[in-house]
Order: sequence, then C-alpha cells, then structure tokens
Amino acid sequence: MKNEQLVLTPGNIHYLPNNIPGLLNDLKQAGLISAAIGDLPSYHFNTGANFSSLISFLGCNPSIPESGKPGGLSVTFEFYNSGARFMGGKNVSSPRCLNCKHQFSDWQQLLKQWQDNNNTRITCPDCSHETLVTGLNWRYRAAFASCAIVINEISEGTALPADELLKILKNFSGCDWFYFYRQV
Ligand SMILES: [Zn+2]
Repeated sequence: MKNEQLVLTPGNIHYLPNNIPGLLNDLKQAGLISAAIGDLPSYHFNTGANFSSLISFLGCNPSIPESGKPGGLSVTFEFYNSGARFMGGKNVSSPRCLNCKHQFSDWQQLLKQWQDNNNTRITCPDCSHETLVTGLNWRYRAAFASCAIVINEISEGTALPADELLKILKNFSGCDWFYFYRQV
C-alpha cells in the first residue's frame, strides 16, 4: 500500500450530489468504477473497464497497478453532509497567495480560524491581497470540498483525470472539478 491518492473535488466547495446513486451509475456506465468492494455505504469500488481512458497515467512507460488485489487501484467516494471541509492529508505544503506567491507557512493556524468561522478573511502580508483560506493556491496538495472522488494507490504526479472524466463530472454537477494528491 502506498497510501497515496489522486483526489477529485468540485470547484464549488459546497457541492454535494443530491442523487448519489445517479452519480455512481453515471461513473459505472462510463467505466470508471465497477463492482463495489464491501458493503455500501462504504462507497468503495474496483476500477471499471474504461478506467485507463478516464485517468491519464503520465510518463512513457507507466506501471498501472491492477485493480481487485490488495494494494491495487480502487475508487472511494466521500460525502460530507456537515459542509465543506479541508481535504488535505499528510503531504500538505504551505499554500501560496494567488496574487504574489507569498507562502503562508502558518497555514495550520489559518485553517483553524476558518474552521471556527468560515468567513474569516486573510490578508497577504506581502501584497495585501485579501482572500479566504479556501482561495489560496494549495499547489495540488489540498482542497476544500463537501465531497470527493478518491483514486487509491496513485503517487503524486503520476496520473491525472482525463478531460472526458472532468466533462462527465461537470455535466452531472454543473461545476468544474479539480484534483490534488493526498498522502493518508
Ligand atoms: Zn500576496
């Protein structure tokens, strides 16, 4: 087990599908996922027949771990009724100001302030740009969301969602989707 993941989240941090079976069905039809592993509602699935078209593996000779084996590829869904949350894992690095790239090394404190009050705005000490902690550049290592699609056993930078998958997700949800890499 690598304990590394490619995580897809909607750009609208409050978006939560009101029709979860519909989303799962669309992704089954598209071939991202196949049979469930364990009981629903663990939302854990083997990869589907079209997985390697929907997730692009990078490099000239990528080794794609097999699905359906311990340590193999699988897909997990996370849904949080309690609202948007920080989705980062062990590999979070200091986020940057979108305007001047200032690094916020005190991000854990900023995160705590946001968790206490979602409207807390922060001001960049270098350029005075004002934003929410959710609006910083988390450099593909974290995101804020109310749901996520997690591809298990993907190392950082080795794969990303193909346009076809992003299109399916946008059609379903009405918003753009993004990705990051997480260590758990
Ligand atoms: Zn700045």
